[in-house]
Amino acid sequence: MAGTAPASRVEIPPPTMGHRPRVVIVGGGFAGTHAAKGLADLPVDITIIDRRNHFTFQPLLYQVALAVLSPANIASPIRTIVRHKQNIEVLMDEVIGFDLDQRQVHLKSGAAMDYDYLMVSAGATHSYFGHDEWAEQAPGLKTIEDAIEIRRRVLLAFELAERQMLETGSHPPLNFVVIGGGPTGVELAGAISDIAKLYMRHDFRHIDPAKARVFLIEGGPRILSAYPEELSRKAVEQLTSLGVEVYTGLQITDVQPGYVAAGDRRLDSVVTLWAAGVQPSPLGKLLGVETNRRGQVMVNQTLNPAGHPEIFVCGDLSHFEQDGNQLPGVAQPAMQMGDHVGKMIGEDLARQPRTPFRYFDKGDVATIGRMAAVAHLKWPVKANLSGFLAWVTWLTVHIFFLIGFRNRIAVLIDWIWNYFTFTRGARLIYGSEDLPGWVRQQGVRPEAETAPLDETSPGARGGV
Ligand SMILES: Cc1cc2nc3c(=O)[nH]c(=O)nc-3n(C[C@H](O)[C@H](O)[C@H](O)COP(=O)(O)OP(=O)(O)OC[C@H]3O[C@@H](n4cnc5c(N)ncnc54)[C@H](O)[C@@H]3O)c2cc1C
Repeated sequence: MAGTAPASRVEIPPPTMGHRPRVVIVGGGFAGTHAAKGLADLPVDITIIDRRNHFTFQPLLYQVALAVLSPANIASPIRTIVRHKQNIEVLMDEVIGFDLDQRQVHLKSGAAMDYDYLMVSAGATHSYFGHDEWAEQAPGLKTIEDAIEIRRRVLLAFELAERQMLETGSHPPLNFVVIGGGPTGVELAGAISDIAKLYMRHDFRHIDPAKARVFLIEGGPRILSAYPEELSRKAVEQLTSLGVEVYTGLQITDVQPGYVAAGDRRLDSVVTLWAAGVQPSPLGKLLGVETNRRGQVMVNQTLNPAGHPEIFVCGDLSHFEQDGNQLPGVAQPAMQMGDHVGKMIGEDLARQPRTPFRYFDKGDVATIGRMAAVAHLKWPVKANLSGFLAWVTWLTVHIFFLIGFRNRIAVLIDWIWNYFTFTRGARLIYGSEDLPGWVRQQGVRPEAETAPLDETSPGARGGV
């Protein structure tokens, strides 16, 4: 699948009814919006179909979840992003199937949409590894709605503790458990610790938010496993100095209201968050082409499933191999694939051979907390950074890639304000006052025979 030699010229049957080729893009995320922008100057008509009306800058979702930024800072209506491109229309609908012979996309509304070219970039969602029943107790972070729900639970935990302290003189332990030590888990754990120990310290009169405990639990041998080992170690050091308790090599076997369990040990948890796994959108399998075991579509060097040069599958939903390795499910490959689809359709129209896709990896950066991050840079310099310098790199990269100039300025102002004043802009609770696990902890704790995980797990703790 790898290679840089031009692919042979691809003959796409002429568009139906003599119209300009219609390109249907399923999913207005990183890959879809990049493709649309690249295609906008070509003589084609483009339809972006997305079940949401907005593009979400997922790398900053955790900042909405932890009340640093407001949803509008990190999301833009897809319509607004492409409003100056006359040949792009946006349809808010859910794709539920495909007819590859008829070249049609089937929509939940009942409509069917014809295409000459189809690009599918529907991304990924959470995976609970066969335990979907855990989702209610341990929400994951993928959408704005998820972020608002996490924010509600985290802030509500402090509010309920304050109220209970006032009423009874005690409250359940304010334990926050994040399951999964990838970039999202690390970000969430660091940010909860930041919010509890720095930003909310003057807000309550009866509880001390700084006494909250934050646990990050990883099933594998080290956190941030995609990063060099040295950076995993630095990440643990930085998390520990923020007050996060890191456990590695610990498989969670149950998630219940008020606690999580690892075998016969358990840990009380007032809010549990899931950052342990993702799975590709079901649309990959619905295409009816070859997929890998996880359901990502196998694509060739021009991003097509076998036998379908008119279909492109990009971003998290695709399985593309380069130099023997599958590309990671992160934003950079998705954006570059989207750009490349625009280029290849341009080559088709100019009756030139398609240029194979080649991913240009600039490196990875993960934030941990206030002034704490790790960066594994590959371009413009090769370097492993941690601490303040890595954090500045993270900040710069994320501001740069934020959709829309207005968002960049708004986010920068919010960050600078929060940074110097230790305030957090969006600490609002919307929705119900119910917190799964809270009631249970007030009554008889379903205690039991099981040993508390945080006191009896020598060897599991603190390593990478
Ligand atoms: C919390 C979090 C933090 C992350 N942090 C980073 C980071 O720091 N750096 C990094 O590089 N990457 C990060 N990522 C990963 C990155 O966001 C993804 O790799 C990237 O979004 C993939 O782009 P995509 O275009 O494939 O899919 P997405 O951007 O997810 O877009 C998919 C689109 O398809 C739409 N869609 C899905 N199903 C349907 C359907 N049936 N019908 C219609 N529309 C549909 C969705 O609404 C969505 O708009 C993070 C992801 C998350 C969740």
